[in-house]
Amino acid sequence: MSIRPATFCRDPQSVLMRFKPLEIPPEGKEFAFDLSPEELPRLSAEVKPLRVTCRVFVQGMQERMRLKSEYNAQLQKPCDQCLKQTSLSLQGEFNLTLLPSYMDNAPPGGDGEISPEMADIDYYDGNKINLAPYIEDQLILELPLRTLCNPDCKGLCPLCGQDLNEKSCDCEEPSTSRPFAQLKNLISNPKQE
Ligand SMILES: [Zn+2]
Ligand SMILES: [Zn+2]
Repeated sequence: MSIRPATFCRDPQSVLMRFKPLEIPPEGKEFAFDLSPEELPRLSAEVKPLRVTCRVFVQGMQERMRLKSEYNAQLQKPCDQCLKQTSLSLQGEFNLTLLPSYMDNAPPGGDGEISPEMADIDYYDGNKINLAPYIEDQLILELPLRTLCNPDCKGLCPLCGQDLNEKSCDCEEPSTSRPFAQLKNLISNPKQE
């Protein structure tokens, strides 16, 4: 039996990564590719992806695929305090086992092939596998809860909007002991300071 090169490449029409599981050579094969913002719509709704690269090592046994993936993402997001565009860099890796969808309803433990530690299992249809959603899931999980342009960011003045990193303003400092007291005054007496 001759081993043909695995086809696992970007499909320009459908942005699916295709591969034919039975054509992965026994020793496995590595693929590297970039993902465009359009291929990461859920991530793009939250951050601006500048460059997302991925390296995947695929090993196949019949139709079962073991994937080891490493990704590297350069992203941009506004600072939570001053709104300045701030760079984020995320790296990580994940493993995935892909099985053909007809095995989805196999009774658990039926053929003993799926052990409990193989938690990262998903199913594919036909011979197309789109890895973008998996990478997107990882990146969304790893987005920091807070994005700051620097740890000492002073933010914007809540009254006049001045970026306090650039210069201070003449607004009265909000009371830190009773943060809502001033707001209450503003609402009941809009002209009073
Ligand atoms: Zn900031
Ligand atoms: Zn101000």
